[in-house]
Amino acid sequence: MRKNIVAGNWKMNKNLNEGIELAKEVNKLVNQNVHNNVEIILAPPFIHLTEINKIIDKKRINLAAQNCSRYKNGAYTGEISAEMIASTGATHVIVGHSERREYQREDNPKIYQKILRAIENNLCPIFCCGEKLAEREAGNHFNVIEEQMIEGVSNISSENFKNLIIAYEPVWAIGTGLNATPEQAQEIHNYIRNLINDRYGEDISDNTTILYGGSCKPSNARELFAKPDVDGGLIGGASLIAQDFIDIINSF
Ligand code: PEP
Repeated sequence: MRKNIVAGNWKMNKNLNEGIELAKEVNKLVNQNVHNNVEIILAPPFIHLTEINKIIDKKRINLAAQNCSRYKNGAYTGEISAEMIASTGATHVIVGHSERREYQREDNPKIYQKILRAIENNLCPIFCCGEKLAEREAGNHFNVIEEQMIEGVSNISSENFKNLIIAYEPVWAIGTGLNATPEQAQEIHNYIRNLINDRYGEDISDNTTILYGGSCKPSNARELFAKPDVDGGLIGGASLIAQDFIDIINSF
């Protein structure tokens, strides 16, 4: 049975003290009142990882970085390697977020290299894909997703693919307040699962967690998560408010 997962992507928000406070609050609420059939992941900024790792109850909450370098190590000033991330106690890493595709010019081949670095360091990659508004309006969204999946993840071995999480994040829904409808999300999630089925077979596709991301909040999470191929969410803005994040987790 595939896992239900809710992951909070804090992006470039919260200084270290604020981040520690937020993590403490989430940790407290998780232990008070949260379904334990949902895996929870927090993705704070890099510099928070070590401190937050000391605070969280690791039986309930996993830690992710928001990115990693595509290189192993060396003269890449300002970069953070997958090995460094793993050494903080983080277990997951987000790769291919649309904000990095857009602002850092990350493309599918670079993202594939990042996934390899993550796998080498036993980090579970959370691979983001999703179309822009113009691509959807042109009716091109299925092709865009297929290309991202083929170039980004289809060369990964079956053994390693089993540890991958996919996040479908339509770019037009991220941070806009405009979420995909549950039907739109289900349509693409089902399409992604079929692509995985074609490449890796039914056992792996049935067991792959596919998250939805894009203005997911307490008021819409329940109907999104009710769809058969939506296995949880990658949450941006709403993960910065502890109670909202908890309410989203409890929407299963
Ligand atoms: C995200 O950045 O991954 C995201 C889904 O953001 P938001 O929830 O704010 O749309």
